[in-house]
Amino acid sequence: MEYVYDDQNIFAKILRGEIPNRTVFENDHALAFEDIAPQAPVHVLVIPKGPYMSLDHFARDASADEHHGFMKAVAEVCRITGVDEGFRGISNTRVHGIQDVPHYHMHILGGRQLGRMLSD
Ligand code: 5GP
Repeated sequence: MEYVYDDQNIFAKILRGEIPNRTVFENDHALAFEDIAPQAPVHVLVIPKGPYMSLDHFARDASADEHHGFMKAVAEVCRITGVDEGFRGISNTRVHGIQDVPHYHMHILGGRQLGRMLSD
């Protein structure tokens, strides 16, 4: 699999500060911000700061420090948003996963009872 990162994607622009965001948490390797079109009371996107286009790209090529920083950001988002009753972490990937933004992101959805994982 060849991963070709497009640095003009909207999350790259957010990382460069070209587009504003509502930041929930940030560390050296990850940024977490509110989704612009929330689908649940809690809908936060966690993204790595490095140029990875998808979950599998990040999983293959990110360093141990990047993996660690990303997961610590997930933990902080869960703590800050208070999703103690549960949540869903989703990483839509490429065509079959219907990924709209080609910069790896994990949706953290919670704050209400969510539907079943797949509807069709
Ligand atoms: P995907 O379909 O790639 O899994 O999810 C992309 C998400 O990015 C969508 O939930 C969409 O609402 C969100 N999104 C798209 N553009 C922006 C933006 O400019 N700012 C923020 N905060 N979220 C965005």
